Amino acid sequence: MVRVARRATCDGVPRPASRPRFIHRYCAASAGALASKRSPRMKTISDSALIASVVDNQNCSGCGLCASLFDSVRMELDEDGYLRPTIQGADARTSPDAQRVFRAACPGRVVTKPDHVAGVPEHRIFGQAFGAWESWALDNEAREAGSSAGVLTTLSSWIAQQNGGASRGAAMDSGNPRRTVPVQIVDKDTALAAAGSRYAPVAMAEKALHPDEAAVVGKPCEISALRSAHGPESPVLLSFFCAGTPSQRSTDALVSDLNTSGTDVTAVHYRGDGWPGKFRVRDRSGQTHSISYEQSWGDVLGRSLQTRCKICVDGTGESADISVGDYWHADARGYPIFSNSKGRSVAIARTKRGRDLMLRAAAEGILHLEPIDLDMVAKIQPLQTGRRTGLVGRLLGRIVQGYRVPHYVGYGLWRFPLRHPLWNVRSFLGTVRRARIFRSGKS
Ligand SMILES: Cc1cc2nc3c(=O)[nH]c(=O)nc-3n(C[C@H](O)[C@H](O)[C@H](O)COP(=O)(O)OP(=O)(O)OC[C@H]3O[C@@H](n4cnc5c(N)ncnc54)[C@H](O)[C@@H]3O)c2cc1C
Ligand code: SF4
Ligand code: SF4
Repeated sequence: MVRVARRATCDGVPRPASRPRFIHRYCAASAGALASKRSPRMKTISDSALIASVVDNQNCSGCGLCASLFDSVRMELDEDGYLRPTIQGADARTSPDAQRVFRAACPGRVVTKPDHVAGVPEHRIFGQAFGAWESWALDNEAREAGSSAGVLTTLSSWIAQQNGGASRGAAMDSGNPRRTVPVQIVDKDTALAAAGSRYAPVAMAEKALHPDEAAVVGKPCEISALRSAHGPESPVLLSFFCAGTPSQRSTDALVSDLNTSGTDVTAVHYRGDGWPGKFRVRDRSGQTHSISYEQSWGDVLGRSLQTRCKICVDGTGESADISVGDYWHADARGYPIFSNSKGRSVAIARTKRGRDLMLRAAAEGILHLEPIDLDMVAKIQPLQTGRRTGLVGRLLGRIVQGYRVPHYVGYGLWRFPLRHPLWNVRSFLGTVRRARIFRSGKS
């Protein structure tokens, strides 16, 4: 039986003196506990105005948490192909409690680094690690179907079966294969159907957590939102390294380019069936059309990331129990090589619960584990490293262009420009230039 630990605070340790009381109260408390704590400084504001302050500043990640908090909010694709909250029906201030949770947990407003646990190593890029391993699924089907090595596929089905519940994952919409939707994983078959990364919008925090949910797989911003909103009541939270969410339009364009016959599309996959695998479209005649990962991600999907992703403070799932990324082979300069081979993942346990689960999965013979040095991982994850070290430059670039940026609490970001001044100047100038181009395109 996999147990969901109940903790006094989000990490089971007392709040450090350095953490402001206001922030900690929200990151540590469950939504119910929040309801009883009213801040006299809180302004009265409608739900739509509160959400608009995030969306209008391009800080929305499309996680969907607001739709789980406010009855009138639904997630819909906007004209640029990103999922955004929309108010259905009359605007209101539905519930001060819901607003309070939103203010504390919406990743477009705030991302709070989990409290550091004494004695646990803290990596400058990847954060706290109770354990870090090279890992892959020992079931070949899961390893082949997964994005990098089927680790999340294996964990999500195993945890669901251990608990007699379900895990939440993302998969192709069977009614419209171009789209991606949240699904329930209850066994190996449903996990295999949800295996593989989907580089398209899907709001994993849109539905409120269900008591039978054993685990949730989500992008780091979604996991941060769920952890902040639900605190100690969270099911096991699984995440992955995340470069960003591309526009749905990019998927549509790739499908149209590949499906030249115009026949109905029956399946769209972005990864899997090898590592890194290919972007594949199957049509009604049974034919499969594909292009390489380098072409699909490098030339199309990776070029349409939403703005929030470019100023993401946590692309490696620090709020999860376990987060998983590609453990690419590297060339002589340390840059990843995307030639097809047997998948290998890097898995990081962020909590004691996460470490216990990984060790048990290895003991039960479902995952291969081999300890690794996170400095090696930093070298073959140039995007994650560059984004973290140049983030202050990007944030300042947004601010001087008149945008609000999310509050990133506890990440100690100011040490990076001191060590990487030129990179931050370049990041600043690039961000200012992009914001200007965006403005001139919209005017
Ligand atoms: C948008 C995106 C960006 C990524 N960027 C990077 C990166 O920069 N560096 C890196 O190393 N890895 C990145 N990955 C993660 C990587 O592709 C693998 O998911 C990760 O290595 C885990 O591999 P796995 O084989 O264990 O996962 P699998 O066993 O294939 O399981 C993947 C799990 O993720 C869920 N999932 C798939 N797509 C989504 C989605 N869009 N939103 C929420 N859940 C989803 C599935 O339901 C499944 O449970 C990204 C993934 C996504 C979806
Ligand atoms: S980031 Fe998430 S919670 Fe915040 S406005 Fe966007 S969808 Fe809603
Ligand atoms: S890059 Fe960050 S903000 Fe964007 S989807 Fe990934 S975790 Fe969310």
